[in-house]
Amino acid sequence: MEFIFGRDPATCRLKITVEGKTLLWGDPNSVDNSVSRQHLKLEVNDDGTKVLTNINPANATKLNGNAIIKKKFELDDNTVVELGMNGYKFKLNEIVKKFIKETVSIGHLKQVIDGYRKAKLDMQIGERKQNAMRGLMPVFMALAGVVGFTDILEGPIKILPSVLLLLLSGYFGYVGFVSASRNPLKGAELDQNFRNKYVCPKCGHSLNGEYSDLLNAGQCPWCHTRFKE
Ligand SMILES: [Zn+2]
Repeated sequence: MEFIFGRDPATCRLKITVEGKTLLWGDPNSVDNSVSRQHLKLEVNDDGTKVLTNINPANATKLNGNAIIKKKFELDDNTVVELGMNGYKFKLNEIVKKFIKETVSIGHLKQVIDGYRKAKLDMQIGERKQNAMRGLMPVFMALAGVVGFTDILEGPIKILPSVLLLLLSGYFGYVGFVSASRNPLKGAELDQNFRNKYVCPKCGHSLNGEYSDLLNAGQCPWCHTRFKE
């Protein structure tokens, strides 16, 4: 990818041309005549290396304060370029980012959503068990009643089977109801945890939809950073 930086003669703003697309940058009349119409070339190569070339060696161009003719360099948010005798200054990466969108990996989001789904499913299975336990409560209660009218045992221990069955009934009822009362809390916690983790790695906004939908969309709906697996 090749960027050409120069002065737009009509507006005297910085003009950037990339693959036929043009961007005007900065205030009108901010770029003086010592900046050429085609002043500086930036090459961004496929291997990520970047090279700045002063198109006319007589042009004044500085990279991070140092005069350059042609230079391979590392681009970051602090990279400053100055053009012309009066040093029209700009942050190079702010402009590059307008044309080259960043790409981030979202592979870890697949584990996040799969883990969330599994936890939800486990919770549903747990709820079914709780229902089954609650269902046993009246069964044991009824059995206690039936056993109470039979004479399996004699004397004071006669009531023992009924008492045991009532205790069992109470146990299943208690466990079934008490653990079920925690379900909404657990569910809300799972949802919250999911929303906190299923986010754009770049801007932190919550994302919606399946992992495959995110890959198909190919970018964050909020910051437009590109997504890859
Ligand atoms: Zn984003």
